Amino acid sequence: MRWRSDIDAGVQLCLHCRKLHPLERQRCDRCGSHLFQRKPHAVIKTFSLALSALLLLIPANLLPMMVVHSLVGNDAGTIMDGVIYFLEHGEAWIGIVIFIASVFVPFFKVTTLFYLLFIVYFRLRDKAHGGLRLYRIIHFIGKWSMLDIFVVALMVGVVQFKNLATIVTGPAAVAFMLAVVATMFATEAFDTRLMFDHETQRSTHG
Ligand SMILES: [Zn+2]
Repeated sequence: MRWRSDIDAGVQLCLHCRKLHPLERQRCDRCGSHLFQRKPHAVIKTFSLALSALLLLIPANLLPMMVVHSLVGNDAGTIMDGVIYFLEHGEAWIGIVIFIASVFVPFFKVTTLFYLLFIVYFRLRDKAHGGLRLYRIIHFIGKWSMLDIFVVALMVGVVQFKNLATIVTGPAAVAFMLAVVATMFATEAFDTRLMFDHETQRSTHG
């Protein structure tokens, strides 16, 4: 063993004010925060939320994202219909932005979360550094998750302006927003320290 972790030392660190406490303490006596050595039930929480996000991404991609009511009738389009529409109508950059924000990024985040859980579950200590880098990426782009919703708003604006049509968001929008929220909570529930714990003695694992 090259270094001692909090688990080896049998102590827990308050993540809010950095005071060290013995394991049996429930609350920090300096700042009053709840104490835990690792985020409680991190694995099962991250797994169930990531799975929910993955299942929600199916209707988000297969159901209509927007429904267009115009003089020539009603038309419903999925995310990919929107992407193809812009690619075919000479506004490829909008199509690419929609594809990255609404298809690539959500699936990338969920896949990454499953990979991180895989590292923890199978104790792949040599993959922990790469896993941490991926976690930082999805944590960073998590802040931009609502970009997708702005993209839908932009799409609605562009189509509305061009076609004089009435556009409402379809059921996919609800599924999409729920998937975004589930992914954000899944990312927060994960504890990156679990990936590095395997070479030390474990006292908690959740
Ligand atoms: Zn504290």
